[in-house]
Amino acid sequence: MSRTVYVNGEYLPESEAKVSIFDRGFLFADGVYEVTSVLDGKLIDFEGHAARLQRSLGELDMATPVTMDELLEIHRELVARNGIEEGLIYLQITRGAAADRDFAYPPEDTPPTIVLFTQSKPGLAESPAAKTGIKVISIEDQRWGRRDIKTVQLLYPSMGKMIAKAAGCDDAWMVEDGHVTEGTSNNAYIVKDGTIVTRHLGTEILHGITRAAVLRVAREAQMKVEERPFTIEEAKAADEAFITSASSFVMPVVEIDGEAVGSGTPGPVAARLREVYLDEMRKAAI
Ligand code: PMP
Repeated sequence: MSRTVYVNGEYLPESEAKVSIFDRGFLFADGVYEVTSVLDGKLIDFEGHAARLQRSLGELDMATPVTMDELLEIHRELVARNGIEEGLIYLQITRGAAADRDFAYPPEDTPPTIVLFTQSKPGLAESPAAKTGIKVISIEDQRWGRRDIKTVQLLYPSMGKMIAKAAGCDDAWMVEDGHVTEGTSNNAYIVKDGTIVTRHLGTEILHGITRAAVLRVAREAQMKVEERPFTIEEAKAADEAFITSASSFVMPVVEIDGEAVGSGTPGPVAARLREVYLDEMRKAAI
């Protein structure tokens, strides 16, 4: 069955969806995106993703082509039309197609391009990796300086995943000035003596929507949280490590650069956070 996607106001079969070759998303990576997960046919933390989307657009002086209510409707319509029970919705907005290729932004009345599509992922919440944990390798962070804006320029994170894969790992943790920034597509955490440590917010990392929710539930459960930089050495000596993202929720990290973290198996803090996070998010899903 062909997937139904959304392009600039229309619901279309994926084979009929078209975007101009002059689109600035294609030519300049001049676009932003969001990924929202779907559990039980409902959207997880839609409000958080919508708020970050507006912030990303604002930081780039990009127009918002739809209201957040309309955006919610489009998400729901795509979930319904594609029968998604568990999976993801990808949303991308670009500065649109100018008449020619030009570094300067096109006139302000140039319509933005908006595209959404679903990815069905049965078993997303019951991922086997959550039981075994993942292995990461550390690499230098060579991305641009505004990582707090969720742009579609994802080449370095893609390279990072390939470096990880070649080393027999699942992902890479990026390091800048001796400290871990984040994973290629997730936020990074360690746990030492019961305290959860994750890098503070700034322009160096993406402000994860899952990060915000996980830290909230951790604090509600009286867990200690420190938002500060940490090194790879500190991570290797930690009791536990884990990552968070909209598509992996809370995922234990059991090995860093070939060295076991703690017992080398998923730890109790990550397991508890995953459970509590999923529980709360399912209840609040819309
Ligand atoms: N950091 C980076 C670099 C990411 O790409 C992502 C996921 N897009 C995250 C963190 C996690 O963000 P979220 O929890 O909002 O998915």
